[in-house]
Amino acid sequence: MDIKSDKVNFDSEGKFSILSFTKTELEEELLELGEKKFRAGQVYEWLHQKNAQSFDDMSNLSLELREKLKEKYFIDQIVVLDKLESKLDETKKFILKLDDGNIIEAVVMKYKYGNSICISSEVGCQMGCTFCASTKQGYKRNLRAGEMLKEIYLIQDLIGERIGNVVIMGIGEPLMNYDNVVHFLRNIIDPKGLNIGARHVTLSTCGIVPRIRQLAEEKMQINLAISLHASNDETRKKLMPIANKFSISEVLDACRYYCELNNRRMNFEYALIQGKNDTEKNAEELANLLKDFTCFVNLIPVNEIKENDYKKTSKEGIKAFQEKLNERGIDATIRRELGSDIEAACGQLRNQYMEKEN
Ligand code: SAH
Repeated sequence: MDIKSDKVNFDSEGKFSILSFTKTELEEELLELGEKKFRAGQVYEWLHQKNAQSFDDMSNLSLELREKLKEKYFIDQIVVLDKLESKLDETKKFILKLDDGNIIEAVVMKYKYGNSICISSEVGCQMGCTFCASTKQGYKRNLRAGEMLKEIYLIQDLIGERIGNVVIMGIGEPLMNYDNVVHFLRNIIDPKGLNIGARHVTLSTCGIVPRIRQLAEEKMQINLAISLHASNDETRKKLMPIANKFSISEVLDACRYYCELNNRRMNFEYALIQGKNDTEKNAEELANLLKDFTCFVNLIPVNEIKENDYKKTSKEGIKAFQEKLNERGIDATIRRELGSDIEAACGQLRNQYMEKEN
């Protein structure tokens, strides 16, 4: 797990993103600088609990150490370009600008059990799922762990409330940015960091099989969600190019491995698209695929985007699909559509911004 080989983590002066280190790595860095280990604890607390914006904020460190840190490292900065609040529910969407001018999104949703944030893991996406807006503007670069963390730290400060749940379901495919995402995860579950329980963290992937297996072996016990969206390979290939690389059965085998090693239930996401994947036969096939899993299926009426002509399945159709699954012993819920008035679905708003700017 090496983030030093990814040039995205260095700035133009060759400084490294200090927020991206795990606590253990930060200790090693400070030992190399000739500092005692406990200093790393202090720096870590400034970065991850107090959201320090600069090394000068770190008032319990000597001036000399602050200067040393400034020479080698930088602290990721993100600014809010715009904030949209849903009038229908309490969903808030943030358009964020990175230090190189790139734009990403994050969404905060309020549930009975607390605030949940949906973060982006890459600038753009290269997966090319036909229904998804995030992929339409192509892929720009990886996000640094520090930038992913900053999405949360910044927004938590802005809303003045704790964020207790994290889902990696924004722009990007997290498992294509594996090392940075794992660094991000290690930091948010660190008791000296945000201290979010692994059970309150969900990573969603379109199914990069070798990376699911690798993630399983990290044994972080976070929840894994698979964007399945089809009940057979033929249909999946039409919707998701990644299906040409990995079959559903390979993806499900990797999921079994994940469950075994992490003792978690699986989540499967299934966007219902009229006439594409929403027949009774599809529901039966899906139930059959998942019959030996302890899992939840999230049924999502597809978000209609202007880049394609997919339509959502009717309310009755969705209900019937859910019942078919339930009858066969599969736990399936229909996802509430939060923030539909502010285009809170992945990538929609970023696209509008980029079109305005171009
Ligand atoms: N790349 C990851 C995470 C980002 S997408 C993944 O594929 O899981 C988050 C979820 O939103 C995925 O399940 C994705 O398939 C789904 N999604 C994307 N566009 C959508 C749309 N127009 N309607 C409904 N769900 C969509």
